[in-house]
Formats: sequence, C-alpha cells, structure tokens
Amino acid sequence: MFGFLKDKLKSWFKSSEKKTEEKAEVVETKKKEEKAKKHEEVKGEAEKITEEVKEVEERKGFFSRLKDKFKFKVTEEYFQEVFEDLELIMLENNVALEVVEKIKSDLKKELLNLEIKKEQVAEKIKEALKISLESLFVENINLIEKIKQSENQPFVIVFFGINGSGKTTTIAKIAYLLQKNNLSCILAAGDTFRAASIEQLEIHASKLKIEVIKSKYGADPASVAFDAIKHAKSKKIRVVLVDTAGRMHTKENLLKEMEKIVRISKPDLKIFVAESITGNDATQQAKSFNDAIGIDGIILTKADVDEKGGTSISVSYITGKPILYFGTGQEYKDLELFNKEKLLKQLGFD
Ligand code: GDP
Repeated sequence: MFGFLKDKLKSWFKSSEKKTEEKAEVVETKKKEEKAKKHEEVKGEAEKITEEVKEVEERKGFFSRLKDKFKFKVTEEYFQEVFEDLELIMLENNVALEVVEKIKSDLKKELLNLEIKKEQVAEKIKEALKISLESLFVENINLIEKIKQSENQPFVIVFFGINGSGKTTTIAKIAYLLQKNNLSCILAAGDTFRAASIEQLEIHASKLKIEVIKSKYGADPASVAFDAIKHAKSKKIRVVLVDTAGRMHTKENLLKEMEKIVRISKPDLKIFVAESITGNDATQQAKSFNDAIGIDGIILTKADVDEKGGTSISVSYITGKPILYFGTGQEYKDLELFNKEKLLKQLGFD
C-alpha cells in the first residue's frame, strides 16, 4: 500500500527543502541590498554623528545580523507555495478534500510565522504533517476481545457494502479469524437480491466447514437474519455474521431494507466494507451508510492493490469511525489488523 503516495511525499519533502533554500537566498540577498543602501546613507551622514552613537549602532547591527543569519521565517507566501504541492499530491492520491483542508489548517497553525534555522524547516514540516495525520484516525476496536467480553449470545455482526467491494470474501475472512480464535460462527445469507450471492456464500461456508442460514431469492433479508440468530441461540453458536445486499440502483429501498435488518437483528456491530482502490467513492459510501444506519467500523478491502492509499487516510476522519482491518488479498488469511503506527511508517514517517 501507499507506493505512489510515499514516493510523492518523499520528493515533496525534498522540494520543500529546496524551496526553503531558495527563499532563504532571496531574503538574504534582499537584506544585503538593504544593508548596503543603509550603509551608503549612514556614510553620508556620518560626519554629523558622534563616535559614541556610531559605536552603539554598529554593535546593535552586529547582534541583529547574527540573529538573522540563524533564523528562517515561515511566511504566508512560503507556506502557500509549499503547501500547494502537498495539496495536489494528496488530492491525486485520493485523500478527501475535507481531509486536505484539515491538514492544511493543522500545518498552518503549527508552522506559520515560525522562526527556525533553515536546515530545520523541512524536518519541522515533516513532524507537523505526521502529527496532523495521526489525529485523523479513530481508536481501533479489538474485535476478538469485544466478542469474548460480550454477554450477548449470539454476538451479531452485520456487514454492509456495495456489490463487488469484497463483502462476501471479507465475511469469510472474519469467519476464518473467529475459528482461529476458537469462536464458533454461522453465516446468514441476507443478500437475497443478487443472483448467485447465496451460492457464493455457501462456497465459502463449505470450505470453512460452517453453516449458512438461507432463504429464497426475493425473501426478506431481515427474516433470514432473525432465523440465523434464533438458530445460533438454540445451538449455542457464538457469532452470527450477516451478509446484506449491496445494489446501488435503488438506494432508497436499499437503505430502508438495511434499517429493517438493523431493527430486527439488533447487531452488536455494523461493519461497512469498502474497496480501498475506489478512493473518494468509498469514503462517500461509508459516509452515507454511516448517516443512514450508524456504522461502527470499516474494513477496507483490496489494500494490497491500492498504491494511493488516500481512502485509508480519509475514511475514519470523514465518518468518525475506526478502520478495523485491511483486506490484503484473496485468501482467508489476508486480513490485516489496522495499525496507525504501521500505516505512518508505510508512508515514510519513522
Ligand atoms: P462482493 O460482491 O462485495 O461480495 O465481493 P466479493 O467478495 O465477491 O469480491 C469481489 C472480488 O474481489 C473477488 O474476486 C475477491 O476475490 C476479490 N477480493 C476481495 N477482497 C480482496 C482483497 O482484499 N484483495 C484483493 N486483491 N482482492 C479481493
């Protein structure tokens, strides 16, 4: 993940160093010219000034020259110039506009009018950017611990997401993860709309040797979820994973259906599955599902083929909900726990 963005950020840090150098040179030259001019004026008036005053002036000049030599001031003009490049890099790499604006305001607060040694400017920018990025994420939920500590029997997780986002595969990955943690589970085939979706879920279930509770195509998905929960209760199965439909074209109906599933199944967790590579689309989908049904967390799939990574930077901030896992491949084991520090490292921040 982050192949493009990391390289772009690296060259941006270099270019900000170069810009600092250039800017410092311009300021230095200007100062030299002004000083030379002043010197000429002073020279003209020199005869009128006493020796004592002259000495004091020179001493003052010496100290201010010394100060100037070490300090570089981050002016509005310099900030705009440097940030413009970063803004472009972030937008090109799928970082949501709202997030870019937040980063800009954070950096401005931290950097504007700052006076530091010019050799330290690039490092200071990097530090401010790291702090700003860190603040974008919401604390992760420890899914396994949450289930183990819950008194609800069964623990119900409903998965939402648009068709093709990798929802079915992700449900199977979570089932695999639960098995590895000695937590029994069943699947509820709640996508009764899309042809072959039930069979697709059954294929995963048979590979993982778990049960699927299903109905006919066109049946009410909320009642499928209800049946699965009833079954899990009677068989003491710890977790129910509910699949849902993800069609886009009847958005109003879809959201009504989602609300009904939530009302009937009273899930412990509502997880939104989105495709990392679709960038702002994924971020916006997560936002509208969150507005409609209040999601608890996000799983970003196909992170293994997402070179840009802007969705993972934006989606938590936009929804206020944590990223739980990244899908990192097509195998059941390819589910990676979200870790903020690791993500920042991948972006080139140590
Ligand atoms: P659904 O329509 O949302 O249920 O999507 P599927 O689970 O059927 O996934 C669609 C395609 O994406 C399948 O070919 C999956 O193997 C693939 N896929 C799912 N998750 C990942 C992932 O994390 N990485 C990669 N590379 N492919 C994935």
